[in-house]
Amino acid sequence: MSARSVVVDTSTGSEVIAFDYAVVATGSRYVDPLIKAEVAGEGARRAQIVAAHQHLKTARNVVVAGGGPVGVEIAAELRESFPHLSVTLMHGAGQLLENAPTKFGDWALDKLIAMGANVLLDDPVVQPAIGTQPADGKARTRGGKVLDADLVIWAAGTRPNTGFVAASWPQLVQDDGLLMTDAYLRLQGHADIFVAGDVTNLPEGRLAITASFHVPAIVANIKAMLAAATTDAARLKPYAPRLPGKGMGKMMIVTLGRRGGLTSLPFGQFRADFLARKIKSENMFVNQYRKDVGLL
Ligand SMILES: Cc1cc2nc3c(=O)[nH]c(=O)nc-3n(C[C@H](O)[C@H](O)[C@H](O)COP(=O)(O)OP(=O)(O)OC[C@H]3O[C@@H](n4cnc5c(N)ncnc54)[C@H](O)[C@@H]3O)c2cc1C
Repeated sequence: MSARSVVVDTSTGSEVIAFDYAVVATGSRYVDPLIKAEVAGEGARRAQIVAAHQHLKTARNVVVAGGGPVGVEIAAELRESFPHLSVTLMHGAGQLLENAPTKFGDWALDKLIAMGANVLLDDPVVQPAIGTQPADGKARTRGGKVLDADLVIWAAGTRPNTGFVAASWPQLVQDDGLLMTDAYLRLQGHADIFVAGDVTNLPEGRLAITASFHVPAIVANIKAMLAAATTDAARLKPYAPRLPGKGMGKMMIVTLGRRGGLTSLPFGQFRADFLARKIKSENMFVNQYRKDVGLL
């Protein structure tokens, strides 16, 4: 990426695309391809998921490493969909969902135990190495526990996809891969390059709902820049980060199986299954996103 163009890989080589304005919204990747696809194309992804499904049908012991929202949701769904499986959720912190509203961690723990999952807190997996599978069918924790594990699902270790920005402007990329973001959701020092979603270094949750707050703010600012005679003359509106635990920053739903979950709204937290089911668990926002992109 340069200040005025990007190089894009294509099936036949590469292409340089010039821009007046750019938005970097390349999201983040997980070390475990089960969580987020690394393969290109629907067919390859489908094959990967089918293979994982077959493996889960014959496996007996699964360890889920990481007790954030993704790990908690996976542990619950495994217990619900593969009741023969022994599922152990291992978390490095002393509380599940430690970045969520305080009640959530205890509620999730109660529910997972009721669903038959084992939960180990303050005891992260140290072997196999992050992102890899156990060669000897065992997972070992920092505290010295040894667990049977036919499969380790890594729900930890996310990294923003910002290597291409670092290649041009290493000083604008933090050690954790997040991009230095100014008050108007732009890459610092670059008036025409905006940043959105998981890649910003703002003090917000890395959530789809956060990205949905960025989009209208960026669109309004690009419109203002287009309408002004010069970039400097444009009257831009600063973006107010949605701090976790405050106002809209409280918005979060953690599913616990297909029929329930925990819901946090700006005015309160609820462990009413019907609420989580109606908003998320039942169809995982698929209808909403189909509508957003004009497929419904
Ligand atoms: C299993 C799971 C469950 C989740 N559940 C929830 C939830 O319930 N609620 C919620 O709010 N959030 C949830 N999240 C988080 C949410 O998915 C992310 O915060 C959100 O997708 C971030 O949006 P984004 O546009 O920044 O990135 P993404 O949605 O990751 O989109 C980035 C896109 O850019 C592409 N890309 C990457 N690199 C390049 C490149 N160099 N050039 C071109 N394109 C590139 C990627 O392939 C991808 O298509 C979940 C995440 C996971 C993994």
